[in-house]
Amino acid sequence: MFSKHLVCLVCIMALMGVLITGCGNQEAENQEGLQIVTSISILADLAENIVGDRGTVVFLVPVGDNPEDYEPLPSDMQKVSNADVLFVNGWGLEEGIERSMAHITDNIVFVTEGITPIPLVGEDAPDPHAWFDASLVADFYIENILTALVALDPAGAEEYGRNAAAYVDKLKELDTWIKEQVKKIPEDNRIIVVSENALKYFGKAYGFQTEGIWELNSHEEGTPQQMSRVVDLVVERRIPAVFVESTVDQRYMAIISDETAVPIAGEIYTDALGLQGSAADTYIKMMQYNTNVIVQGLSQ
Ligand SMILES: [Zn+2]
Repeated sequence: MFSKHLVCLVCIMALMGVLITGCGNQEAENQEGLQIVTSISILADLAENIVGDRGTVVFLVPVGDNPEDYEPLPSDMQKVSNADVLFVNGWGLEEGIERSMAHITDNIVFVTEGITPIPLVGEDAPDPHAWFDASLVADFYIENILTALVALDPAGAEEYGRNAAAYVDKLKELDTWIKEQVKKIPEDNRIIVVSENALKYFGKAYGFQTEGIWELNSHEEGTPQQMSRVVDLVVERRIPAVFVESTVDQRYMAIISDETAVPIAGEIYTDALGLQGSAADTYIKMMQYNTNVIVQGLSQ
């Protein structure tokens, strides 16, 4: 009797063991490696370059939307609650995401940490668009992402370090390449006019004055005062071209262009990459694309 019961008990335990292991394996299959969520597509590309094959990366703000106005969806909450880490830019870029996700995860990493910000014009607040300086991406964004990944997955430290070093080399090349390209623009023409004044870091790093109709997409857009200020500036400075952004309402710049007879030289990518398969579907390609559009527009 006793031995029969014992055998049954062993059977049950073995069966439970199979079931538990089975479940465990299934979970492991669904969540292979690190699960990374980023606010914007630009950060997703940076994180992908560092994590390599040891994890997967998704981003929340759809390509074409601007992060300043983005309010997360229930599916975003789900993604973040299942993730190991959420990377955000910070400095007011993704206020809606930060506000919602603070309750969902305790692992939000600000990739701008350590950077000395450029302030918004007329405000005591940082401009968030620091990724427009490739050397800041190399020295801070990548470093902060690397530190977070190593903390989550120490076994991958060597691989992450190798990936980061290789990517930083490419970023330094990009930085040098942009500086070379800018030399093609006559010095008097080195002024970039866009809708959202998002290119300050680009201007500081590569030698441009930068202007926008408005400061930040979450602010009021296209007021009569903002419009007439930019019209005057374009006329007085004899600016050869203005630009529009992929993620911003382009009608305001169209009005500026009409009123000044200065052409819109092209579309640049500011707060999001281009769609997959486009000429701006990685951070490096986006920076090259923008530089080419700016150089062509201002060289005439
Ligand atoms: Zn922006």
